[in-house]
Amino acid sequence: MDAQAIASTRALTALTLPERLRDVEGSPTLALAAKAKALANAGKPVLDFTAGEPDFPTPDPVKRAGIRAIESNQTRYTPVAGLPELRAAVAQQVNRTRHTNYSAAHVLVSCGAKHALFNVFQALCQPGDEVILLSPYWVSFPALVRLAGAKPVIVPTQEADGFQPDLAAIRNAISGATKALVINSPSNPTGAVVSKARLEALAALALERHLVVISDEIYDELVYPPAAHRSITQLNPQMADCTVLIGGVSKTYSMTGWRIGWAVGPEPLVEAMTTLQSHSTSNPTSISQHAALAALTGEQSSVAAMRKEFLARRDRLVQGLAALPGLRVKTPEGAFYAWCNVRGLGQSAQATAQQWLDEALVATVPGEGFGSSEHIRFSFATSLQTIDDALRRLDSWCRKRSS
Ligand code: PMP
Ligand code: GLU
Repeated sequence: MDAQAIASTRALTALTLPERLRDVEGSPTLALAAKAKALANAGKPVLDFTAGEPDFPTPDPVKRAGIRAIESNQTRYTPVAGLPELRAAVAQQVNRTRHTNYSAAHVLVSCGAKHALFNVFQALCQPGDEVILLSPYWVSFPALVRLAGAKPVIVPTQEADGFQPDLAAIRNAISGATKALVINSPSNPTGAVVSKARLEALAALALERHLVVISDEIYDELVYPPAAHRSITQLNPQMADCTVLIGGVSKTYSMTGWRIGWAVGPEPLVEAMTTLQSHSTSNPTSISQHAALAALTGEQSSVAAMRKEFLARRDRLVQGLAALPGLRVKTPEGAFYAWCNVRGLGQSAQATAQQWLDEALVATVPGEGFGSSEHIRFSFATSLQTIDDALRRLDSWCRKRSS
């Protein structure tokens, strides 16, 4: 190495992170999923409940659309905000399911819903702003808010209240600095679907206090009857003017690796986010956009088939967990997570999850990253066989512990 190279290596070693990055840790869900995979690759018979991604293959017609896109040379930059036909298809799908009145101009396509959320917070927030998050929250919400220089203000929901938003507590948390409120229904990690009454109350509060609502509806198609998905945007036309709706293809079409998600909202915000995106990723991958277009506009039978399978897994897992001593679990109405209360075991979720991994080779995500040290998240994006095996292992773990 020459002297200059050595000097710059030293400079990097001594790197002081900028303040906005100092208290942000990497996504614990992604880290634990990677750890479980590494154990499996090393030959350990680990049963993996960490992954927040459907385990089904991407539907064949969607894969074929991706292949066609490559073969027909759709391999160049696209417009920054996404292919016009994909933006229009997103608007149409949202309008069809929510009776809203969006056009392509209200849609920004990004590299996954996570990137869409990143863009939203960056475009909305400045230092000093506060964003209200409801706990338990998806692990990335607080980090995304902090990375935009704003402050997450956490308002708890209660298990006894079905993890529904607590309107009085939210009202109390609103200050002169509050910019936005994030809702996520169905919720990762609780699986709760916000009721119509609470949604209406949230909408009224947002309008009264001039808040932007960021409504993450990425699990909208994974709701189990009699629960039904309802979007805050569909309550009245005014709500569409102050809401940013987040969605994507990752969960609905089992396309996590394709990295396509979107934000749908007022045009000035979409324009600001488009400017931001023009200087960061330029555009989401052209091939993936063509595949996402095929997913949205094609035949939808794979969605219902996946939902049916998730429902069977949910019931098996929830019944099995509820039968174990010290564990309690509410039946999730949507998404593919069981949020299991482990307080009865008399130790933190972190400690329990570590023991389950070390002693039973069952990999889960402890609740601390979601704002709870009393819960453990199981993703049931895994086979019935894996669920049965894990329930047997946890049953014998519980017996050993109490003997
Ligand atoms: N929001 C929620 C609530 C999620 O669980 C996920 C899953 N990772 C995302 C957004 C991001 O999804 P993606 O970036 O894969 O589209
Ligand atoms: N949303 C998924 C999860 O919660 C994927 C991982 C992540 O993006 O954090 O596990």
